Amino acid sequence: MTSKSPRKVIERIAGRRICRGRSAHVFHVSYGPPKKQGLCDVCGGELYQRDDDSEETVRRRLEVYYTRTEPIIEYYKTRGLAVTISALGPVDEVTRRALEALKREDDGK
Ligand SMILES: [Zn+2]
Repeated sequence: MTSKSPRKVIERIAGRRICRGRSAHVFHVSYGPPKKQGLCDVCGGELYQRDDDSEETVRRRLEVYYTRTEPIIEYYKTRGLAVTISALGPVDEVTRRALEALKREDDGK
């Protein structure tokens, strides 16, 4: 997450839909839509948007991120202890990127 692309961050979070079923399966209207709109592919449960995923709330959460979290990332970056990956795209792809980045770091030390 970076202050350079708040629109993408908002799209990513505000597009998230959660299943009301026990396992709370997660979908995204753009990056991982269910086969039937509004229904979970796994259990058939109703999908909904969490209150804290609304666009207005996401904007407020981003402000907190920029003022409180981003400075910590800079702290670790300047010490060579942070790795940056893109979090855009399907969950499986982002997970693969994260694991590969961690493996590269592990191999490099
Ligand atoms: Zn479900």
